[in-house]
Amino acid sequence: LTRHFTSGDLLRDAGYVDGKWISDSAAGTFDVLNPATGETLATLPEMGATETKAAIDAAYRVQPAWAARPAKERSILLRKWFDLMIAHADELAAILTAEMGKPLAEAKGEILYAASYVEWYAEEAKRINGETIPAASADKRMMVIKQPVGVVGTITPWNFPTAMIARKVAPALAVGCTVVSKPAELTPLSAIALAVLAERAGIPAGVFNIVLGTDGPAIGKELCYNPKVRKISFTGSTEVGRILMRQCADQIKKMSLELGGNAPFIVFDDADLDAAVEGAMASKYRNAGQTCVCANRLYVQSNVYDAFAEKLARKVAELSVGDGFAKGTTVGPLIEEAAIEKVEAHIADAVSKGATVVSGGKRVAGKGTFFEPTVLKGVARGMTVAREETFGPLAPLFRFDTVEDVIEQANDTEFGLAAYFYAGDLKKVWKVAEALEYGMVGVNTGLISSEAAPFGGIKQSGLGREGSAHGAEDYLEMKYVCIGDL
Ligand code: ADP
Repeated sequence: LTRHFTSGDLLRDAGYVDGKWISDSAAGTFDVLNPATGETLATLPEMGATETKAAIDAAYRVQPAWAARPAKERSILLRKWFDLMIAHADELAAILTAEMGKPLAEAKGEILYAASYVEWYAEEAKRINGETIPAASADKRMMVIKQPVGVVGTITPWNFPTAMIARKVAPALAVGCTVVSKPAELTPLSAIALAVLAERAGIPAGVFNIVLGTDGPAIGKELCYNPKVRKISFTGSTEVGRILMRQCADQIKKMSLELGGNAPFIVFDDADLDAAVEGAMASKYRNAGQTCVCANRLYVQSNVYDAFAEKLARKVAELSVGDGFAKGTTVGPLIEEAAIEKVEAHIADAVSKGATVVSGGKRVAGKGTFFEPTVLKGVARGMTVAREETFGPLAPLFRFDTVEDVIEQANDTEFGLAAYFYAGDLKKVWKVAEALEYGMVGVNTGLISSEAAPFGGIKQSGLGREGSAHGAEDYLEMKYVCIGDL
């Protein structure tokens, strides 16, 4: 790994608990691999319920003192953390590309995006304002104060190894919570590097802990069942979200859940087709299609269907699949073998029911888990791609005729994370934006994420929002205080 940087100084082969680096575990070790080459990048301690409990105890012990510090002090520490992330952005990006596969330029983009949440919540920390309410009787005064929920457990996925952690930890720390974080076992090095920088920024021992390990269920159970943890914040699959929600039910534990999506991307016939193609490229093939807000179903109005398909296929042919470190790579490997199999299964199912492959369609021969960016035409309801998130570089093109028809199809899913559409007519824009049952809607854009906006889903895509002032609320309790006898 060190061949990609000038120094390996953001790496530790250890978890981080109560300000100490834990490199040994009775349960042994696990390896972190580079998906582009299969090489082993690091061997890390296999931590489990015991280490998780120790981390929770530490986070619980230090939380009152962390919350009691003036907001401005927490803000300054987060700001230092942000500054260090920016100063080390290239090294962080290299770590990310090595363990996750995305092209280096995209990895750098993720680091800056992740850092923007730390910056935002460093600022927001100072603006956790309460309320005063005009009282109903003359001898009373009524107010609301905001207080941190307490210890937070975070569980995050591999597709945005840095950003998903920053989006949770930054608001939590800003408002006075402490955190025990379990990164995805496939991409723990980015989390370790974040903790190295947090320590260097002066964030006190126990405030931010990292537990490493491949036994997600064991770590997850400890986080859910330990009463010292007051909230779980999870990003990942809907299936695991359901398990965590069940586990949290006994203690009515608070939850933020950012789960799967099945994003529709609609192109109306009055749209700027070239802009729609650009948007589809960004929304579909970024991160090799491995994002929860990726366009999963592309609906194109009948009279522009062929023209759109042709333009899209031409752009797709310009993509360059390869090692994320190689110059010019625009699409990296998929995360693992199972991801390839899922894309293959979705294509085989669609083709067996009448779809045709316009471009791509196969895995790339040789080492690594690479898949050709693919476009399918003639896709219809009843095919697996209509229902399931592919999480790979596959663009299935559905045909539609009317606004009503496409809204009905777009909403026909249990998911409700992101949706996109391209249109010109203002009336239609407003009508469709309101009618789509999604937490986020991109109109004439394929990229919507921003630290200044509330990111999150409705229906089975989750609970809560990350980013913006609303993202801080997820880590706060409100307390109504009524003073009488005045
Ligand atoms: P993905 O499809 O992105 O891998 P998962 O939901 O499987 O999504 O994984 C997201 C995170 O949840 C990872 O950190 C993984 O280790 C963790 N995880 C998986 N199963 C469980 C579980 N039963 N309890 C707690 N965490 C889990």
